[in-house]
Amino acid sequence: MRSEFRINPNLEHYACLVDLLGRAGRVEDALEVVKKMPMKPSGSIWGSLLNSCRLHGYLSIAEAIAKKLFEIEPTNAGNYVMLSNIYANAGMWDEVKLIRELMEKRGIKKQAGCSWLQIKDRIHNFVTGGGFEFRNSDVYRRVWDELIKEMERLGYKPDTRDVLHDIDEAMKVEWVCGHSERLATVFALIHTGYGLPIRITTNLRVCGDCHTWMKYVSEVSRRKIIVRDTNRFHHFENGKCSCNDFW
Ligand SMILES: [Zn+2]
Ligand SMILES: [Zn+2]
Repeated sequence: MRSEFRINPNLEHYACLVDLLGRAGRVEDALEVVKKMPMKPSGSIWGSLLNSCRLHGYLSIAEAIAKKLFEIEPTNAGNYVMLSNIYANAGMWDEVKLIRELMEKRGIKKQAGCSWLQIKDRIHNFVTGGGFEFRNSDVYRRVWDELIKEMERLGYKPDTRDVLHDIDEAMKVEWVCGHSERLATVFALIHTGYGLPIRITTNLRVCGDCHTWMKYVSEVSRRKIIVRDTNRFHHFENGKCSCNDFW
């Protein structure tokens, strides 16, 4: 960059490089770049590195990065949840509990998952674990059952690794099925014309199973589903997502 283009790399360039290396699984190389940066790495650089640790299973590096992040951004619930996720994936439930206690002690609350979409001139809101009236309606159950039947035929299996509670598998499946982006998607399938794209905004990072679920729904329903989460836009179409499963 310096010799050919006469550009001095700034914080954003470093952030891109760290993100690229991390995503490719070269977490140690990414960490080296962070250590050698001429400027102070931002919280978002550490955050992207922590996410790479989650994707590629680097536990001890994740712990060191999380410790740093808890100092730089002590009130950012996302970092605590991310580390808790990493522990949960490794089956380290005592550590998951410790993180939850730390959050409680510091008064940090995990934001409730919330998704919304616009149909004609109305905004429809859905909260994770809520919408009982809608979920108990005949039309919801019919559409849900049809979807699941088709999706399972294509090979869909619920992945509950992002559920942060030490509860049995059936409960975990129940739990992820109540995520707000799914409620919003089923609502859109019922209330918008066949073939129309579905646009949903959600306030948290889409969890692993919702992401897989969306891919299958886009294939089964032949709809384009666009989900904007805290990190990016996901364009689901024909069983694939534009993010190539990195987010
Ligand atoms: Zn989810
Ligand atoms: Zn995606």
